[in-house]
Amino acid sequence: MRAYAVEEVFAALAARLGERASRSNAVVAAHGASESYHAAHPPDIVVFPQSTEEVAGIVQICAVHGAPIVPWGAGTSLEGNASAVHGGVCIDFAQMSQVLALNAEDLDCRVQPGITRKRLNAELRDTGLFFPIDPGADASIGGMTSTRGSGTMAVRYGTMRDNVMALEVVLADGRVIRTSRRAKKSAAGYDLTRLFVGAEGTLGVITEVTLRLHPVPEAISAVVCPFGSFDGAVATAIAVTQAGIPVARIELLDEVMIRGVNAYARLGIVEAPTLFLEFHGTPAAVGEQAEAVREIAHEHGALGYDSATRTEDRNRLWTARDNTLYAGTGLRPGSEALITDVCVPVSRLAECLVATKRDIAASGLIAPIVGHVGDGNFHTLILIDPASPEEIARAQALHERMVARALELDGTSTGEHGIGTGKIEFLERELGGAVDVMRAVKRALDPQGIMNPGKIFVRA
Ligand SMILES: Cc1cc2nc3c(=O)[nH]c(=O)nc-3n(C[C@H](O)[C@H](O)[C@H](O)COP(=O)(O)OP(=O)(O)OC[C@H]3O[C@@H](n4cnc5c(N)ncnc54)[C@H](O)[C@@H]3O)c2cc1C
Repeated sequence: MRAYAVEEVFAALAARLGERASRSNAVVAAHGASESYHAAHPPDIVVFPQSTEEVAGIVQICAVHGAPIVPWGAGTSLEGNASAVHGGVCIDFAQMSQVLALNAEDLDCRVQPGITRKRLNAELRDTGLFFPIDPGADASIGGMTSTRGSGTMAVRYGTMRDNVMALEVVLADGRVIRTSRRAKKSAAGYDLTRLFVGAEGTLGVITEVTLRLHPVPEAISAVVCPFGSFDGAVATAIAVTQAGIPVARIELLDEVMIRGVNAYARLGIVEAPTLFLEFHGTPAAVGEQAEAVREIAHEHGALGYDSATRTEDRNRLWTARDNTLYAGTGLRPGSEALITDVCVPVSRLAECLVATKRDIAASGLIAPIVGHVGDGNFHTLILIDPASPEEIARAQALHERMVARALELDGTSTGEHGIGTGKIEFLERELGGAVDVMRAVKRALDPQGIMNPGKIFVRA
């Protein structure tokens, strides 16, 4: 990217936003770092808009000066998605975090992008509705939309792709568009909503999101189910999915991850490959689902089947699951995690997971596994000494083999974290000529290449 006049851009932004434009060291540093092992890249300037009009004004100033624009939600993404690799202006949406409209009778709402999923659910508490997408971290709706995020409940409720109905977007020239209306379905032209979902801020800046909501289930129960073998746990997850049992969550933690979780959250569960499950529905339906899964699990060597119906027990379990990143790195103090994210068709999951487990053992690295196995998606946290180039190279080679395996099985390098900077090298291998079409879309919508440059492709 060509250099731009940082001082002039800052002066123009400060004239419009006052103290909500910042160049303080602490503020820019906080907007360059992430929880991943990727290097930090702070922006030059951070702005905190309060309205769509302000965002459009910021984008126009950046467009005039050719300044990179990096949208920022909660900063929890794991592939360097929000790092300012070419500097520029970071737009932090913390002050655009309102629920703008709630249409309970239509099961939808319209929100500003900075609201986090936990705050949204807190605001929905008395409505009998909830927003189910749960990526573990308290991510923002704008960030989740832009990474096409999902998490533990996608197996039942879908991903952000399925739960975003419409968007308001500020384009790279400052124009504001709305991609759809509130009708449950529409066949009106190209599906621009889906184009911006997962675009990682490279095509435009999202300023409003219309979301699908779901009724809070009448009954919820959770189950912890350890297995005598890794293969048994995987086979159970696949059989449950193929039988069409509508589990709300089915998460696999291998015995290494369980050791980490036990130490981190004092869960005290048996150190074995384990499925964490959750069932939603009427009390009768929940009972039937739990019973059907119990039978399948026992056929595959389950060592136990412990239910948790009390809210506090379930919360403890899922909080432990949500903290697997920290539990995993806790297994090796001082380490950082190279996080993998492959996803394969469920029928190929056993092949993929068992070969991965063997590969990890042969690599000599510690890499606990945690997976959204109902979707064929799993993560390994390859624990690396950040000061050891040899170890980093070994971890990267292991990751490359995992991606190659996933692609051979007709899967993907990333089920939910996005490409960011971390998976650019795999995109071409995965989608070939389709990447040229993505580049053409990028050039059409962002001819100057100022929208979150350096992500998804090195150069558009
Ligand atoms: C402990 C932990 C567990 C996790 N588990 C999961 C998981 O299970 N599933 C999962 O999917 N993810 C998971 N993640 C990753 C992360 O939470 C998701 O990627 C999340 O969607 C990022 O949201 P965010 O608000 O933090 O976005 P950010 O990190 O702020 O940004 C992410 C991307 O979105 C862009 N962006 C942000 N706001 C906007 C906007 N308004 N307009 C346009 N672009 C925008 C950014 O530029 C960037 O490219 C986990 C992360 C952690 C730390």
